[in-house]
Amino acid sequence: MLKLTRSQSDVLACIFRLLEDNDIARTTEIARRLGLSKSRVVQVLKELASMNLIVYNKYRGAKLTKLGEKIAAEIVRKHRLIEKFLVDKLGVDVIKAHQIAHELEHSLDDISILLKSYKGDNRCPHGNPINPEEKLLDKRLDELEEGSCGIISRISNESKTFLQTLLEHSIWIGKEIKLVMKTPKALFVIINGHDFVLPREFGKYIYVKVRNND
Ligand SMILES: [Zn+2]
Ligand SMILES: [Zn+2]
Repeated sequence: MLKLTRSQSDVLACIFRLLEDNDIARTTEIARRLGLSKSRVVQVLKELASMNLIVYNKYRGAKLTKLGEKIAAEIVRKHRLIEKFLVDKLGVDVIKAHQIAHELEHSLDDISILLKSYKGDNRCPHGNPINPEEKLLDKRLDELEEGSCGIISRISNESKTFLQTLLEHSIWIGKEIKLVMKTPKALFVIINGHDFVLPREFGKYIYVKVRNND
């Protein structure tokens, strides 16, 4: 197995997460999520490309190779399991859990004990699949048809500022949501009876388990 540096594995896992919502992982978005400079990210992307873990295009961004995807999925699985443990067993809040898991995913080599205690429990505290290859049925909020209703099931962007913004407005997993209207800039939604105008961008990171009207 390849031994990755910390920044290599951070960038690789970040690409994996971005590809859950996008066709390609953009350099600027990776830099923003990881709090790194763009030039540093470009350097790491070149390293990963030379290891045959990603395909990197200077203008478009990065995609994972089969090998890169396999390694990234392992890191992400470990991260999400640690988060679940922190929230469920230690009562850590969902913002800190992501940050601590980000540290621990590099130092905890053996997570078999965590794995054993979570048989059948398949999501991290933000609703992201612990088995990252799992195909989920939830739909991205910005891709729903106007008038659709359902339950918020997943927040794919776990950055502190994004989670904080949602929590401040009581927008979280388990809440009822209705997409009333979408425009190129905004999403008009009703969440638990309250009206919100969300930046359209937010719709990429909020997933909904849609209820069929019957
Ligand atoms: Zn996380
Ligand atoms: Zn999570």
